[in-house]
Amino acid sequence: MKALVTGGAGFIGSHMVDKLIGEGYEVTVLDNFSNGRLQNLANHKNNKNLKTIEIDISDFDNIKKYFNGIDVVFHFAALADIVPSIVNPLDYYKSNVTGTAAVCEASRLAKIKKLIYAASSSCYGIPDNFPTPETAEIRPQYPYALTKYLGEQIIMHWGKVYKLPVVSLRLFNVYGPRSRTSGTYGAVFGVFLAQKLNNKPFTVVGSGNQTRDFTFVTDVVNAFFTAAQIDCKNEIMNVGSGNTYSINELVKLLGGEVTYIPKRPGEPDCTFADISKIKKILGWQPKVSFEKGVRKMLDSIEYWRQAPLWAPDTIEEATKDWFRYLAR
Ligand code: UDP
Repeated sequence: MKALVTGGAGFIGSHMVDKLIGEGYEVTVLDNFSNGRLQNLANHKNNKNLKTIEIDISDFDNIKKYFNGIDVVFHFAALADIVPSIVNPLDYYKSNVTGTAAVCEASRLAKIKKLIYAASSSCYGIPDNFPTPETAEIRPQYPYALTKYLGEQIIMHWGKVYKLPVVSLRLFNVYGPRSRTSGTYGAVFGVFLAQKLNNKPFTVVGSGNQTRDFTFVTDVVNAFFTAAQIDCKNEIMNVGSGNTYSINELVKLLGGEVTYIPKRPGEPDCTFADISKIKKILGWQPKVSFEKGVRKMLDSIEYWRQAPLWAPDTIEEATKDWFRYLAR
């Protein structure tokens, strides 16, 4: 079997590559290395089953040849994070919308058997119900959420019009080894682990009572793998941990001092996926408990030496546009 992983040098994509190589797949990675790192694929150095191509997915003319002969496409390549999406919405549009259309079209022309898209639970914005089902109203709060949702619409449209077999998985707060360490402020684990390494207090937002559906990356990858194996198409499914945990609980598990920073506009007090649909259709369920997942993060904490160290004043500066544009 041959798989193509867009964003395969990134956080989730590189775990997908680990899984596919382990299962005996031949894998082609397309990555522009804007956030991805070759080091994330170091386990497979010199493995002839892995081909890594430096290319931007929005470059349709040049990516399409890599789809020939591929059985399944896993589409993770995207720009992430809230603040830069507010500052540079067109960059996000190009990667997450134009790029996704290019991946769909290349997949269609190559007659691939399945395309699985990494969608974002941020499409639910501040939802009315918890756990949140896939049928909840779509309420993107910022350009990142909007562009990831537009990407999902494109995938489903190619499924409907061109009968491309597609699945969209809406991911909730994925964490795990190799989660991004890039310069922009975002993703709580990277922020907190760098603070712990430097003996600085954790910058807890608001009261810290807000909760998140933290989902461990290997569980997410298993959901993608199962979606590729099982005969299902044109489905949108949540991928979550089956639970929701407060930031205060996270801080307790990590251990360390705390400092408080202001609550951010447009942020939900809770994210919590209703995962009954994916359990039923794929027979998938999460396996890694939060306690175990956090322990694994602490075991690989050295990785975040390269992550920027954030403090209340630098966070205030970095999130200026967030407060400026999203405050109601
Ligand atoms: N968070 C925090 N301190 C930080 C960064 C994040 O307390 O320095 C909290 C944030 O309020 C949210 C959770 O961690 O409740 C997850 O934030 P992240 O930005 O990782 O994901 P999202 O808010 O998009 O779910």
